[in-house]
Amino acid sequence: MPSVNNTHRISTTDLDTPPRLLLGPGPSNAHPRVLRALSNRQVGHLDPAFLAIMGEVQELLRYAWQTDNPVTVPVSGTGSAAMEAAVANTVERGDSVVIGVNGYFGERLVDMATRYGAEVHRLDRAWGEAFSFDEISEAVERHKPRVLLLVHAETSTGARQPLEGVSELCREHDCLLLIDTVTSLGGVPLFLDEWGVDVAYSGTQKCLSCPPGLGPLTLGPRAVERLAARKTKVPNWYLDMSLVGQYWGKERTYHHTAPINMNYGLREALRLVAEEGLEARWERHARNARLLWDGLGEMGLACHVDEAIRLPSLTTIRVPDGVDAAAVSRELMARYNIEMAGGLGELKGKVWRVGLMGFNSREENVRLLLSALAEVL
Ligand SMILES: *Cc1c(COP(=O)(O)O)cnc(C)c1O
Repeated sequence: MPSVNNTHRISTTDLDTPPRLLLGPGPSNAHPRVLRALSNRQVGHLDPAFLAIMGEVQELLRYAWQTDNPVTVPVSGTGSAAMEAAVANTVERGDSVVIGVNGYFGERLVDMATRYGAEVHRLDRAWGEAFSFDEISEAVERHKPRVLLLVHAETSTGARQPLEGVSELCREHDCLLLIDTVTSLGGVPLFLDEWGVDVAYSGTQKCLSCPPGLGPLTLGPRAVERLAARKTKVPNWYLDMSLVGQYWGKERTYHHTAPINMNYGLREALRLVAEEGLEARWERHARNARLLWDGLGEMGLACHVDEAIRLPSLTTIRVPDGVDAAAVSRELMARYNIEMAGGLGELKGKVWRVGLMGFNSREENVRLLLSALAEVL
C-alpha cells in the first residue's frame, strides 16, 4: 500500500452558519418546521411508510398548483433539474419551439432547448416587461411550435407573464404550453388546470420555504400523450419521466433512490401551504409586497416593473444615480446579515432584487429591510 497523502486532511470546526435573512432571489429561509422535518430518521425508498409520504407530497403539490394531473412529481435536483426535465421530455430533435425571453431564465430555456436539438424561435422583450397576447399569438402562428415556453415569474426581473387566452391558442395549434413557476408556486396565484397549462415546473427554495434540492414537475394529459408518442427516447436517462413516472406512479418501480429527507422537507413545506390556504398565502404575499413598494416610494426609490405585472414574490428596485449597487448589498450583509441581490444581464448594476418569499414574506422583514436600506444608503 502507498502511504496516505494527508495534504487534504484539513481540520475543521463545527458548522456555525451566520444568521442571514435571505431576501434575495433565492434561496429564501426555510421554515423552521421544514428544517425539523428534514432531520427525521430515514426509511427506505420503497418502504410503505415512504410510499405513503410520496402520495402525500404529490397530492399537496396538486393543491398548490391547482391541478389534477396524475403525473405530478418532485424531480431529484433543484429547480433547474425540473426545468431540464420539462424540456427533455417535451422536446424532440428538430421540433420547432417558441421561447419567451424577457430575462435570465428565458435565456436558460433557450440554452436547454437548443441542447436537446430544438429549432428555437426566440420571442424577445426588454427585461422587466411581459409579452402581450398578440405578440405570442403572432409567434405561434408564424413558427407553428410544438411547445411554447414561457416564464410565469421571471426572478431576474420581477415581472409576471399574464397567460389569459394562451392555452386556447396553443390548443388550436397542437402546441404544448410549458411554464416556469419557480418563483410563483406558493406565493403568486396559479391555476394550472383552469389556465390550460400542459407542463409546469418549480423549485423548493423560493416561495415554498424549503431548502434547494427538489424540483416539482407536472405533466398534463396532452404532455403525457406527447411523451408516449415520442419517436426517440428522452435523451436524458435520469430525467426521463417515462421511467421516473413509474416510481412515482402506481408501479412504484425503482429508478433512482429518491432523496428521502428532502421529501420529508417538501412534505412539511406543502403542509404549511395547505394549512394556511392558497388564498390567504397569496394575499399575505401581496400585502407584504405592497408594504415594501410603499416604503420604497417614501424613500424616493422606484420599482423597475410596471405595477400591473409586478411580482409580489420578487421586487426589482432601481439603483439611484451615483449609488454603487454592489457596495450597498455588501453593507446590508456585513452590518445587518441581510442578503439583497443585484441585477443580472441587462439589469446588472441597475437594480437590486428583493425576494419576499414564503416564510420570509412577513411585515417585520419588510420593516427591517426598509430601515436597514435607508441607513446604508
Ligand atoms: C431559481 C429559478 C430557477 C432555477 O432553480 P434552481 O433551484 O436555482 O436550480 C429556474 N427558474 C426560475 C424562474 C428561478 O427563479
